Amino acid sequence: MASSLTPEQALAQARTQVALATGRPGGLCVLTGAGMSAESGIPTFRDALNGAPTAPAAPVPQEERAGLGRPGAQPGYWSQFDPADLASEDGFRAHPQRVWDWYEERRHGVRKAEPNAGHHALADFERRHPGVLVLVSQNVDDLHQRAGNTGTIRLHGDIMESRWLDTCSRHAKGGNVCDPDWAESGRPPGCADCGNLLRPGVVWFGESLPLGAINAAERAAQSCDVLLAVGTSGAVWPAAGLASRARRHGGTVIILNPSASEIDTQAHLLLRSTAAQLLPGLLAG
Ligand SMILES: [Zn+2]
Repeated sequence: MASSLTPEQALAQARTQVALATGRPGGLCVLTGAGMSAESGIPTFRDALNGAPTAPAAPVPQEERAGLGRPGAQPGYWSQFDPADLASEDGFRAHPQRVWDWYEERRHGVRKAEPNAGHHALADFERRHPGVLVLVSQNVDDLHQRAGNTGTIRLHGDIMESRWLDTCSRHAKGGNVCDPDWAESGRPPGCADCGNLLRPGVVWFGESLPLGAINAAERAAQSCDVLLAVGTSGAVWPAAGLASRARRHGGTVIILNPSASEIDTQAHLLLRSTAAQLLPGLLAG
């Protein structure tokens, strides 16, 4: 039982399991969640809503925040809105400028943040064991990419990307859609021809995960030897179901999180720590 082990015993067993998983392609599936980005100073969605500061390692100078020239620069401004106001298609259609500004502020925080030791440990592992790691992330920032991981399965999209809200009626007739690179600057940028707006390339409330991404993640979970969930509360579905899927198919489930998560019952091994503190040692082999 996971609970009967000392932390040292659990870590030793986890290292052994990870080492065994390096024996074949796809042996190790790692799922990362908001806790991992938070360790780099990127607040979780709700913390950002409540005005948590971004990127303590590289704080945004007060004058720069003030210079943003939008109400979001004021701490606590966003807390007046419901999450669905800021992260749904309906919310965007109702107040496109507000939602765009919210995402611009969060993008600003992502640009200021740096990958932490946990991100670097995952990238180093991928380089040392080509093909073994399948990395699945619930995070919309680009810290795994900047650390050097390639092919990460991004369940909730990419906050640094934008895409069109609608299909451009004019260009669609010719079999083409208007290129987001043609968007005229604005809040949000738009298509000069048809008025179409750019929206953030993330999955919003009420939207389905990209089918290719969730299918690939489920395949990885059910065929891995070890599923390691890092910094995830286990509260967001269907990502939370990956641990139970791995377990049902005979995989060893290791959960690395500083506090209890909703998927702890699926764990063979529980590691109460953070990505930056523990992943470098856990993935060193
Ligand atoms: Zn257009």
